[in-house]
Amino acid sequence: MYEFAVEPAITQLRRPGVIITEVEPDSLAQELELFPNDRIVKVNGRQVRDYLDFRFQTAGETELTFRVKKTNGETLDIEFDREEGEDFGLSFEQIVPRQCANECIFCFCKGNPEDARPSLFVRDEDIRLSFLYGNYTTLSSITEDEMNRIVEQRLSPQYVSIHATDLKTRAYLLGVDESRADISGKLQRLLDADIELHAQVVLCPEINDGKILEQTLRDLADNYPGVISTAVVPVALTRYNTDERLTRVTPEFCQRTIKEVGKLQKEFRKTLGTTFAFLGDEIYVKGGVEIPSRRHYGNYPQIEDGVGMVRSFLNAFDKVLNRRGAETQRSANKRIHPVAIRPKGKNPVAIAPGSDIGTIITGEMFAPVLREQIEKYNFRTGSRFHVLAVPNTYFGGDVSVAGLLTGQDLLKIRDQIEGDFVIIPSSIIKSDEPILLDGMPYEELRSQFSVPIFDLDTHGLINFLSK
Ligand code: SF4
Repeated sequence: MYEFAVEPAITQLRRPGVIITEVEPDSLAQELELFPNDRIVKVNGRQVRDYLDFRFQTAGETELTFRVKKTNGETLDIEFDREEGEDFGLSFEQIVPRQCANECIFCFCKGNPEDARPSLFVRDEDIRLSFLYGNYTTLSSITEDEMNRIVEQRLSPQYVSIHATDLKTRAYLLGVDESRADISGKLQRLLDADIELHAQVVLCPEINDGKILEQTLRDLADNYPGVISTAVVPVALTRYNTDERLTRVTPEFCQRTIKEVGKLQKEFRKTLGTTFAFLGDEIYVKGGVEIPSRRHYGNYPQIEDGVGMVRSFLNAFDKVLNRRGAETQRSANKRIHPVAIRPKGKNPVAIAPGSDIGTIITGEMFAPVLREQIEKYNFRTGSRFHVLAVPNTYFGGDVSVAGLLTGQDLLKIRDQIEGDFVIIPSSIIKSDEPILLDGMPYEELRSQFSVPIFDLDTHGLINFLSK
């Protein structure tokens, strides 16, 4: 499950063009007398649907005509020249995601409590967001226009949820008929056009595991390097997913999957020179199996999908233990394309605590891993940091990742806080607004604790411990 970065205005009537949200002072846009809320509807006679179109149609152009709808209803054609590469000084509205037409049996929306905040129910299926933010799509209802757009605007890589190459199984998982589930022709068209793909399998025991999984991974690997990598992540069922067709992921299931996929990974490393099919960290942690080495993950192609995050953290932590002051290897989500609009900061830059006695909060899955490292750290440095595993009572079921903890979950463990401060995972706060997954304002959470709360991601935590 993950949430789209913005609160989309899905109820708003969409009008053609892209709306300007900001105009930089002393910029070319200001000189052209463009203002926030003006809508650019055409560039050099071509329609503009969103800021991706705007970027595509202005790229490399020095002689330009903008057709602009002003807020007073006036339409203007503005002709101008710009220097090569000169920035316009414009910011635009976010893309409103296109909604999916599937009925996946494991859909995260079915796992939300009814009162979860609206953005958790957004079922986006949008090739633009796949390119910009690395969101997965199923391609099952992609239109001809969207296919052409991927190719024409080189929206590569695309992130595609395959789940199974066996058609019957894929249709069953997506809850659609086989003709819609069949994306083999579309995938081939994208690969023929040199569009790179990252694939994902949401692994559901007794549905797309075993032989079906092996066939899926082999079929995808046959298309390497067009298909760059595949992430196999376990289905996560909250207590609201009561669909009887779904079976929960057990430690035994994880161990069996690691064994079966391990054989394929070995084969792929020999034939392709890459592990290619990566299992989500949760599968190793739940199965009680050691996390693979750094080499296994190559350049961590699926790290934002929870694949290799633990290894990356452990390696960074080792550097902290050995040298102190080690820098982390990453500081930003590398799946986000440079042209993507990033949500405005939710908080002031997190200031690390000044004391060396405090509590670090995480989910039940990561807690044993983190605790072991922090204990070594305490031993070496004399600090007294305490790792606290917080049960997820809001979503319940087998949700144990840190990123889905809510304000209510945190309030329940207030009396277990030790020391002068609390560090919480920054991923539990909405990316563009200071609220938590259950809608609790961050400020309200802070006011309920008797010690300061700091929100850090794993890199922030490593940096804090490196000081
Ligand atoms: S593709 Fe499936 S899992 Fe994703 S939003 Fe649609 S129904 Fe839900």
